[in-house]
Amino acid sequence: MVQLSSLSQVQTEIPLTAVIDSALCVGAGGSTGPWADKPIVRLADGRLLIPGSQLKGRLRHECEKLARALGWPVCESPVAETMCPQIGRDNSEFQRTAGEPQHHCLICQIFGNPALPSRLIVDDLICLENSKDLPEVLRPGVTINRRRRTAEDQKLYFLETSPVNVQLPFVGHLYFQPDCPPYARALVLAALHHIPALGGSKSAGLGWLTWQIGDIDIDQSAWESLKVGNAP
Ligand SMILES: [Zn+2]
Repeated sequence: MVQLSSLSQVQTEIPLTAVIDSALCVGAGGSTGPWADKPIVRLADGRLLIPGSQLKGRLRHECEKLARALGWPVCESPVAETMCPQIGRDNSEFQRTAGEPQHHCLICQIFGNPALPSRLIVDDLICLENSKDLPEVLRPGVTINRRRRTAEDQKLYFLETSPVNVQLPFVGHLYFQPDCPPYARALVLAALHHIPALGGSKSAGLGWLTWQIGDIDIDQSAWESLKVGNAP
């Protein structure tokens, strides 16, 4: 039987493209690649990708900063002991009584915690260009000894990056689950605008990007609910 309530329970899907303005260096421990100490992450067929977990981590961090700036109590991720619901149980600031009692902060309501599933799913962003058409780029670097302010001996390393200045598009989606609170989309989209670069070596000019975000209507009431005191 079709339940009316289930018809409105659709997840929201937001198409997202990161256009890399410089070159990208998103490495991962254990990934293998060409002659680089830190190879870029690829799919089995060779296409380049930005891991969704990495983007989600950055989004969480930026949302935490925004929520704190708006005056919300926010737990300390990623250590379970300093996260909700652990710290929320004994801290009245974390408790909301609208509907069921809650011990989860605004951020955990979106991104989850050890006791609450995430209501936001972030795709890996995959480069649409065929990697066979892309040159392999290795960028040399040296490790600097901060104390002596000199280059360390024998510490030349190579980063693999995407090609420079070719505006490579990396494409994926953000999925908001049906039970995701309305303020989540507003907060996450605001956070995206605070992520001008991804991956390592940003100060060396790597990873700078422009977001193209799919059409999405955000209700004014969702923005209003981010103001302290109007929490759903
Ligand atoms: Zn929390």
